[in-house]
Amino acid sequence: MGTRKEKFAAEKAIFYQHIQSEGLRRTNQRDLILETFLSIEGHLTSEDLYGLVHKQDDSIGLTTVYRTLKVLTEAGLASEVRFGDGKTYYEHLYDHEHHDHMICTACGRVIEFVSPEIEALQDEMADKFGFRPTHHSLRMWGLCSDCHERADEVPSAPPGAQPRVRVRTAIH
Ligand SMILES: [Zn+2]
Ligand SMILES: [Zn+2]
Ligand SMILES: [Zn+2]
Repeated sequence: MGTRKEKFAAEKAIFYQHIQSEGLRRTNQRDLILETFLSIEGHLTSEDLYGLVHKQDDSIGLTTVYRTLKVLTEAGLASEVRFGDGKTYYEHLYDHEHHDHMICTACGRVIEFVSPEIEALQDEMADKFGFRPTHHSLRMWGLCSDCHERADEVPSAPPGAQPRVRVRTAIH
């Protein structure tokens, strides 16, 4: 694993290679979208990213941002993740450790975690069924440590109900 700068350069190279192989043109707009996305660690929607790039270049449309995120996903630089609020979030994928998510249904906080034991158990289960997993996403919904202290004030959902989630986007 290299420095942040080297990683950034590698991600850019992959993007341009992918763009070329798809017969797409390299444009200033795509450059700006790529650089903005790579500069943010966290989970963000196409609307979130659009808000950021639009501030710098108001000729960029939401569709361009959305399509570029799709290209980033196809190129293996971004992955889509859903937290149950009906939105699609994107996070960095290239050279990032695999992780899973806990989502607080009260405040929308998203906690990233990784457990080697859980990962190993999942592989064991897949083996048992002769299943070859290509990827997985483990998500838990519930209350974060701040919110379960106030849990008495939070109405609990009936069992089996879909949690109502409003995710807080981590844009710094
Ligand atoms: Zn996992
Ligand atoms: Zn919370
Ligand atoms: Zn994540």
